[in-house]
Amino acid sequence: MSTNYDVVIIGGGPTGLAAAVYTGRALLKTLVLERQVPGGQIALSAAIDNYPGFADGVTGYEFAEAFLRHAQRFGAEVRIGVGATSVAPNGDGTFKVGLSGDDRVTAKAVILAMGRHPRRLEVPGYEKLFGNGVSVCATCDGAFFRNVPVAVVGGGNSAVEEGHFLTRYASEVVSIHRRDHFTAQKILIEQYLNDPKVIPVWNSVVEAIHGDREVEGVSVRNLETDKVEEIPVKAVFVFIGWIPNSELVKELVDLDEQGRVLVNELMETKMPGLFAAGDLCVRPIYQLANVVADGVQAAVSIEKYLENKKH
Ligand SMILES: Cc1cc2nc3c(=O)[nH]c(=O)nc-3n(C[C@H](O)[C@H](O)[C@H](O)COP(=O)(O)OP(=O)(O)OC[C@H]3O[C@@H](n4cnc5c(N)ncnc54)[C@H](O)[C@@H]3O)c2cc1C
Repeated sequence: MSTNYDVVIIGGGPTGLAAAVYTGRALLKTLVLERQVPGGQIALSAAIDNYPGFADGVTGYEFAEAFLRHAQRFGAEVRIGVGATSVAPNGDGTFKVGLSGDDRVTAKAVILAMGRHPRRLEVPGYEKLFGNGVSVCATCDGAFFRNVPVAVVGGGNSAVEEGHFLTRYASEVVSIHRRDHFTAQKILIEQYLNDPKVIPVWNSVVEAIHGDREVEGVSVRNLETDKVEEIPVKAVFVFIGWIPNSELVKELVDLDEQGRVLVNELMETKMPGLFAAGDLCVRPIYQLANVVADGVQAAVSIEKYLENKKH
């Protein structure tokens, strides 16, 4: 295996793999590092209905697999199960990227495409019951809870989409949100609230998750009346926001107050040769179509950056 690359892309989600298609086609020697599964967050999604061109929808798995194959077709080397553990400038314009397993590679330019991960609910019971009824992935765990009531916490796109998916299995979906309305896309909200299995619980927060070995219920406080209600459910699905995976590079790039990487429209960070794209960054929306565009832009910017360096 080689140790010197033109481009190392950290993260094999849609952003990283889209970038790899373009760097590969530009004949730049490309390595993609993916510490988990290719496709990132979308790999486990049951259905993608809004990616233009897929009129009949596509599963997350199929989507991820097609992105991987496309990147590989143009020569990108994709190391699956290998994470980047450090990124450091060498002082000559190149970068040293440390890999899990104590290996390292050198890159003329790096694309940061590490995405983000779900925020945890800081209440008693969350840690203890995580994996035993507490979940952040309806597609992964929803089928375990057939014909029983479950709770969904949150009110954005993820909460509403995943909550709607859970209606396939659960007897009812108790949808707990701290505001008096959801903030997801209108069409998603409409579909969700029209489902008779969905029971919205507005202006409320979960205070505790109960159960010894498995979830038995939640304590929910109404923020207007301050009353606490015990709701029996067999699972709690939490979708309350995101934490960017920017820890690795926090000394190298500028971050906003939420830890998202700041980039310009060319996907440049403040460090020459270090580009960032997709859900890791401050973006107007977090959807496949625009993170793919980000990845493409980062790749094209790198092509120009390396060309300019030559002359
Ligand atoms: C449940 C769900 C449903 C969604 N549905 C839709 C939809 O229908 N339509 C739509 O347009 N969008 C949807 N989205 C949003 C979309 O999935 C994201 O915008 C997109 O996945 C972001 O891509 P990304 O590559 O930037 O980040 P991610 O998908 O987060 O991928 C980042 C990758 O980087 C890897 N990584 C992180 N750190 C390292 C490291 N140090 N070394 C190596 N690898 C690393 C991670 O393992 C991950 O695979 C959905 C999201 C979720 C969670």
